Amino acid sequence: MRDGDMGEVSTGRVKPPPKVDILGIPIHQLTQEELLGLLRERRKMGLTTWLVTANAELVVRAGDNPALAEALHQADVVVADGSGVVWAAGTLGGFLPERLPGIEIAEELIKWAAKEALTVYFLGAEPGVAESAIERLCAENPGLLVAGYHHGYFADSEEQRIIETITGLKPDILLVALGAPRQELWLDRNMGHLGVPLAVGVGGSFDVWAGRVKRAPAWTGDLGLEWLYRLVTQPWRARRMLALPRFVYRVIKAKFTAR
Ligand code: UDP
Repeated sequence: MRDGDMGEVSTGRVKPPPKVDILGIPIHQLTQEELLGLLRERRKMGLTTWLVTANAELVVRAGDNPALAEALHQADVVVADGSGVVWAAGTLGGFLPERLPGIEIAEELIKWAAKEALTVYFLGAEPGVAESAIERLCAENPGLLVAGYHHGYFADSEEQRIIETITGLKPDILLVALGAPRQELWLDRNMGHLGVPLAVGVGGSFDVWAGRVKRAPAWTGDLGLEWLYRLVTQPWRARRMLALPRFVYRVIKAKFTAR
């Protein structure tokens, strides 16, 4: 366990947020405002934070992969990335106040970084994508300090060099866009020796910022239909999306077996 597992360890002035269990994965009950407040507070206290934004697909994968489930238990804060996880909480008799999509959280972190002169490192996506994403983010967030970037298609033999580069640059925030669950497994392995105060896996966010992929319109998310938009616009994701009916099935099964 790193410094301060939010659930079990007293973290001084930082009050551990309550959690709800979704198919064995503990999700913190936080609004966006509360999450950002918590991240600031943890930074002030010198606590490192590995933040995971978990969607239904990640929860299903964790159910099939004990190593991933174990990794998610090591994260300092886990929030609900999508409406599926929020729905599951309600169905299982719990409560999650809202969905906190990784890309929106990352955009809030970027605003915070630009305002308070915190440095950000961008790791992931295809070569050239991080550069375009950074260009756009810097234009939209004057004063943003970029510590560095690296694409996400590196060989195992290059990993150590990348880690040493990041460690040497000492960014305040590390955004890891290697896709789920690779980014979660990567951070679980490396968070302890990266020395970064705050890291979060952000999936395909760099592609969106770079203008390569269009984000689903907000109304699809509000209706819980973001998956349908993605299926229509990115049909090659169909196989991965089979995780969604499996998620619904497992949640309903868990509801009835708990009775
Ligand atoms: N990616 C990467 N290295 C890999 C595999 C994927 O950097 O070995 C990147 C990929 O280019 C994309 C992101 O990870 O930018 C995954 O995007 P996706 O929309 O699939 O995210 P997810 O749905 O997994 O959150």
